[in-house]
Amino acid sequence: MIAEDLWDLTNGSSFVSLRGVASGVDVILKMEGLNPAGSIKLKTAREMVRAAEASGRIRHGSELIESTSGSLGIALAIISAARGYVLTLVTDPNTSDRTVHHMRALGARIVVVKERDANGGFLQRRIDYIQDRLAQDENLVWLNQYANPANVEAHRRNTITEILNECGTPDWLFVGAGTTGTLMGCVEGLRARESHTQIVAVDSVGSVTFDAPPQPRYIPGLGTSRRPEIFTDHDALLKVLIPEADTVRMCRRIAAERGLLVGGSTGTVLAAVAGLADRIEPGSLVLAISPDLGERYLDTIYNDVWVVSRLGEGALATSVPPSPRVLTDFLALGGVRA
Ligand code: PMP
Repeated sequence: MIAEDLWDLTNGSSFVSLRGVASGVDVILKMEGLNPAGSIKLKTAREMVRAAEASGRIRHGSELIESTSGSLGIALAIISAARGYVLTLVTDPNTSDRTVHHMRALGARIVVVKERDANGGFLQRRIDYIQDRLAQDENLVWLNQYANPANVEAHRRNTITEILNECGTPDWLFVGAGTTGTLMGCVEGLRARESHTQIVAVDSVGSVTFDAPPQPRYIPGLGTSRRPEIFTDHDALLKVLIPEADTVRMCRRIAAERGLLVGGSTGTVLAAVAGLADRIEPGSLVLAISPDLGERYLDTIYNDVWVVSRLGEGALATSVPPSPRVLTDFLALGGVRA
């Protein structure tokens, strides 16, 4: 295939089988980091820009602003460079220096918001900053990945279709939740097909998306300190929170045992698979979405000093099994949340 545009190289049909991640469970990992943006957010950026162009909201020379933990920023910066958009990206201190350099190299302007919001995260502050800028400049356009239906559409149209075409209908599908675009797109796509798939929505301990108590988090990608507008809860979702120490341990285990350097959210999702392994019938078709690879995390998840200073010595012990908090069960058992 010769792509007309760089962002059409999403490599959405890259899957790899990981046998025995937990006892008796084989997982098919959907590798979304093998594209020119290095993450699943290339699809989100492409769909949001397409929708805004189609509606006439943006055209060559438009100025865009977006809040990002990094992945969407890189993807939007690629498209903006090629389409002639002026792009400002609003990030926070959890975004690595490498990612900031990457976005700058593609021509984006970077703003780092350093003040935490009431939930101990940065998201509300990043959004406050954008709203101030929008109030001062009526030509500025905010695509707003947290509320934009095109974010969901990107995955309803592509991600879930790629899974069904390549692997058939999974019995279990593990999806991480950041903006929840991937999750909601998969939910909508599977519901439309009346599929039996058990969807596991995976988030980090400290995120408020599933209504759990806020807590500071250090690994970008999953989690929010403010519930995204595009998220709608479904009874059928099995919601799981993973401590960041489990994320780190799983990333390091997969790198050391499989030679696959995964990003933080992949470690989180695989920790959920391992943590729920005793509920998964042998022989089930289990799929997990890997949003990015690990190079961007060499100075954090794969750096001992960083890990110990943020999460303690225990986070280096790769033999410790994951301890997921299964929110759905807690609710079913009498309304007490983890
Ligand atoms: N993993 C990574 C590395 C990400 O950057 C993101 C998006 N912030 C996600 C997972 C979550 O994807 P979504 O926003 O579609 O929920």
